Amino acid sequence: MVINKALLIFDLDDTLVHSRIDFVTLGQWVRGELVRRGLTELPEAELVRMSVSQMLKLAEDYDGSQSTGHAAELWRKVEEAELAGAMRATVEDGAQAVLKSLKANGYLLSILTNNSRRVADTVLERFGLGTFIHTVMTRDEAKVLKPDPTGLLMLKDKYKDQVARMFYIGDAWIDGMAANRAGIPFIGFNCNDPRGISMVGNVSNLPELARLVEDICSAGEGDL
Ligand SMILES: [Mg+2]
Repeated sequence: MVINKALLIFDLDDTLVHSRIDFVTLGQWVRGELVRRGLTELPEAELVRMSVSQMLKLAEDYDGSQSTGHAAELWRKVEEAELAGAMRATVEDGAQAVLKSLKANGYLLSILTNNSRRVADTVLERFGLGTFIHTVMTRDEAKVLKPDPTGLLMLKDKYKDQVARMFYIGDAWIDGMAANRAGIPFIGFNCNDPRGISMVGNVSNLPELARLVEDICSAGEGDL
């Protein structure tokens, strides 16, 4: 079996593309709905620190204990905001060229995103990136969202016999926490709020990322 140099798993939003999702407005709306519907007893100060996906998990937990259907309604609104953001998306500088070159140089590329399949496919097709990606894992497959490590563990299991190393690359602390929990080295991509997660590096653009992983791989470091 051909052993590839490494599996590079990318986060999507604010790593390969910039989906112009209005997370501030969306976060405020979800927070307001959790309080208005009485789905959580957590104080406002704690909700403000949570990602949208973590807040939706609170709604899911409430539904699980009360046999209600709040989470599905909130998810519909989130997907609307995501699709609107995908339509306004821009692509990270050099994304197509760097992914093409990484693939040609023996790297397997995949994506793990908390986005839906529909949104992920829309932006990847729009910017011509899908052709370089071996596996796109979205929340529709992973079922549990980052910072939970489930999606990364599924990819780790799928590729463990095909690669010598793996890395997860993302901009947010939830990416780093998922990677830390999955035992996959994390590379920050303009990760400015790491909240104590450990990372092997923090790069500011894709060419810099390509140089970093090439340096690590050629030094024979980071083997699984
Ligand atoms: Mg991101």
